[in-house]
Amino acid sequence: MTEQDFAGRTALVTGGNSGIGRAVAEALAERGAYVVISGRDDARGNEVAAGIRSVGGRADFVQADLADLDSVQALAKQAIELGGGHVDVLVNNAGIFPMGPTADVAPADFDAAYAVNVRAPFYLVAALAPLMVQRGHGSIVNVTTMVATFGMAGAAAYGSSKAALQLLTKSWAAEYAAGGVRVNAVSPGPTRTEGTAVMGDSLDQLANTTPMQRVGSPAEIAAGIVFLASDQASLIHGTVLPIDGGRLAV
Ligand code: NAP
Repeated sequence: MTEQDFAGRTALVTGGNSGIGRAVAEALAERGAYVVISGRDDARGNEVAAGIRSVGGRADFVQADLADLDSVQALAKQAIELGGGHVDVLVNNAGIFPMGPTADVAPADFDAAYAVNVRAPFYLVAALAPLMVQRGHGSIVNVTTMVATFGMAGAAAYGSSKAALQLLTKSWAAEYAAGGVRVNAVSPGPTRTEGTAVMGDSLDQLANTTPMQRVGSPAEIAAGIVFLASDQASLIHGTVLPIDGGRLAV
């Protein structure tokens, strides 16, 4: 049986209805958390929440469009209400990855990437971290990417948005430590999810540039996220954990 180290805690997992976020939601619920899953697609979200409940876990789905600031703020409010007044763990996982030459990136796609990947985490933290501080504990994990650390042709808009999220991880580590809130990030390499299915062979080709030369699974990324969110990581703060088959090492 899995240790119930998240018992009594409420976790909000953005993008919890797909890929990495779904694996995180399921793993946190298995370890005793009440999980609020969000995303736009309510069919997939309700299916994930029902799946968690069917094995004895606790979860609800809240629909939100993180490109819309009002929806971000409504999500934070609803998560607090559902959590009985508190959210103890925030996983900023939802993300979009527009790829292509800089000259071909449509302004709407650039704005959407920054709205979902940067602005939404920013205002979720603004809404939830002060309440964590009031309670004296909390944990935030941001999901970035290996291409937030090195330059990759075709990843300028996406990589730069996630680089901003990496810096926010450090800014929030400085800001919230005194209040008992830990803030960390994971930086995944190529991972097989619903979102990367469209990449076909190019996902494997990208994975072949890593020392381990294989694509990761959502469960492998979720393991790092859950660890950083847990009390086992009690002195780990402001760090970005690469989970990328060694890509950042070479
Ligand atoms: P995914 O399967 O496409 O899932 C993305 C999630 O984000 C979905 O749950 C989606 O929900 C949600 N989302 C997207 N736009 C949204 C919006 N406007 N409002 C609310 N939710 C929104 O992708 P994934 O591969 O699991 O990626 C998860 C995270 O890992 C992302 O931040 C991504 O950048 C990062 N990452 C992934 C890889 C990889 O190779 N897979 C590598 C490095 C980093 P809806 O569809 O319902 O809107």
